[in-house]
Amino acid sequence: YAAKDTKNGVVAYLPTLQTEASSRLVLLGDLRRALDATDQLSLHYQPKVRLGSGELCGVEALMRWRHPARGPIAPGEFIPVAENTGLINRLTRYVLHQALSQVRAWLDAGLEIPVAVNLSPRCLLDASLVDQVAVMLAEHEVPATLLRLEVTESAVMANPALATSTLHELHALGIQLSIDDYGTGYSSMVYLKQLPVDELKVDRAFVMHMDTDRDDAMLVRGAIELGHNLGMTVVAEGVEGAAHVAALRDLGCDIAQGYHYARPMPGADLTEWIRSQDLTSAVA
Ligand code: C2E
Ligand code: MG
Ligand code: MG
Ligand code: MG
Repeated sequence: YAAKDTKNGVVAYLPTLQTEASSRLVLLGDLRRALDATDQLSLHYQPKVRLGSGELCGVEALMRWRHPARGPIAPGEFIPVAENTGLINRLTRYVLHQALSQVRAWLDAGLEIPVAVNLSPRCLLDASLVDQVAVMLAEHEVPATLLRLEVTESAVMANPALATSTLHELHALGIQLSIDDYGTGYSSMVYLKQLPVDELKVDRAFVMHMDTDRDDAMLVRGAIELGHNLGMTVVAEGVEGAAHVAALRDLGCDIAQGYHYARPMPGADLTEWIRSQDLTSAVA
């Protein structure tokens, strides 16, 4: 941000904003190097569990970055920075490659585990995305039905026509689609109804306090009803306790994801977790 002083013809920068801008640039440079480094970025996987039977029905892949000097940096910090540049497209390709090779490894071990990957708004507008995903599925020999892509409503609303056609092309490949963080963005029933999306993920902001806050409980109930009326499966995010599980079961929610079941963890740990939970029967 630069404020122009027209009288003197000088440009005065606001110091804190300037610091922010330059630290964003540093982060961006570090992230670019992290992509080449191979030992800084990784994926963690968090289980999604069917509320009725307790069966594992898939995992969400979540990016992790261990900065050589700063240690772990949360995706909430580095994803938005990457989203403002083309770097998010490279990061997304990295995540897709990693996630698909993990799914392949699980298949080779006799485990059929669908994986969900988050797509940034910018990726949905990338004309090469659909072809790249198709090529990656073929390369890793993973059936498209084992890949799910999560997008937010805001991502769709940024360019509804282009986003909608991209989602239809992905769906035509056999890929499953989810609306992520439902309830936090600006919502349009018109688009929601038209999208080839079969899963609605209710944001953890509403789920977190639904056991104690009546308003939040009402919002979650409304989201579940909306999802079901549109023929979708409904997932509750941020399920932290047994009280949440009971309340969500009462409301007819289909799937839960959260610390109550497991934190996001490396792929190898997830394999162990499945075996320890004796959920192997659930994943064919
Ligand atoms: P998200 O897609 O909504 O992912 C769920 C987030 O909730 C994850 O945070 C997960 O660790 C956290 N979470 C899960 N269960 C609980 C719980 O019971 N309690 C609490 N307090 N949190 C829980 P994480 O891993 O920090 O990721 C944050 C966000 O960053 C994600 O939100 C997603 O929007 C973005 N993100 C992460 N990985 C990627 C990626 O590979 N690509 C893109 N584009 N975005 C990503
Ligand atoms: Mg997500
Ligand atoms: Mg979410
Ligand atoms: Mg989120």
